[in-house]
Amino acid sequence: MAFKSGVAESPECKFCGQEETQEHLLYNCEHYSAPLWDLLGKGISQAITSLTQNPIPRIYFLPVHITFNKIHPTIAVNITDKEVRQVLVQETKREIYYRNQNTPHRNPIRVHPARITAHLVSVMRKLGQLLKYQNLQKYRSSIAILEKIQSNLLHDNTDIG
Ligand SMILES: [Zn+2]
Repeated sequence: MAFKSGVAESPECKFCGQEETQEHLLYNCEHYSAPLWDLLGKGISQAITSLTQNPIPRIYFLPVHITFNKIHPTIAVNITDKEVRQVLVQETKREIYYRNQNTPHRNPIRVHPARITAHLVSVMRKLGQLLKYQNLQKYRSSIAILEKIQSNLLHDNTDIG
């Protein structure tokens, strides 16, 4: 580690250069976490709408859903497996921390939208595999939603809205 002549390094977001608070890292970064949650909300809304043939309102994650794991009301109604809706947000948060840890410090970079999509797809895929392994029958409907989110994201990654 380079010695920086006693000056404490101010925590700067690796993705945008702004001050890196917990809130910023987790959901306020316009270059990473904010579009990621937006994309997840959109992906879940689209997946549920197309699987149930029942249009549901677009899901927007608020800080309370992310920080305190409060379940979004639309998700509570439409994803019946309690464990799954908890772990969906937890694993997404874990992904954000992981990607932040593994991004080198350099001049702030704008993460390409396709990479954010890829990160989210990888969370959904890992979660789906875990559920299949644990209990394919029990989690059947949640697995279908997770797979639908993946295919929607992959077919839609130029339109991040
Ligand atoms: Zn940032």
